[in-house]
Order: sequence, then structure tokens, then C-alpha cells
Amino acid sequence: MRVSCQDCNKNEATQLHPYPLCARCWSLRFGTVNIGGEDIPFRELHRARLEGLDLWQKKNESTADWGQRCKKFTLTQQERRLL
Ligand SMILES: [Zn+2]
Repeated sequence: MRVSCQDCNKNEATQLHPYPLCARCWSLRFGTVNIGGEDIPFRELHRARLEGLDLWQKKNESTADWGQRCKKFTLTQQERRLL
């Protein structure tokens, strides 16, 4: 039986407690990373990390262009790892 995510109503729920949520919506609501004893919401940490790498989506940048910029960065980083 397929249960839809209560938040996005688009994806299939992968978590049923405390209520039906897909993995993405569960992570946005409850996902945290513990750093130095403090629980920091995953979303805030992820954004700060991407902004620090200048990989957050720029104003007026299309999602496709943003994705290409991130892909290019990843490939560059991979090359560095191999050397
Ligand atoms: Zn969802």
C-alpha cells in the first residue's frame, strides 16, 4: 500500500513515525548533525558548507546552470584526489 508524504504530497513516504514523510521531507524537518554537543539542523549546515565553497545557487542562476557548476567543481575535486 502506497502512502504519500504528508508534507510534499508528491513522494512516497519512507518514514511512518511520527507521521508519513518521504526521506527528503523527514531530513528537512528532523535531520541534525551533532557538532560539539550541539544539534545543528542538517539543512543549515549543508547550506553553510555550500556557501563556503561558493556552490550555493546564485541569484538569477538557473537550476541547470547551478547543477553544471556543482558538477564541474566535483570533477575538479575528483581530479585532485587522484593526483
Ligand atoms: Zn515529502
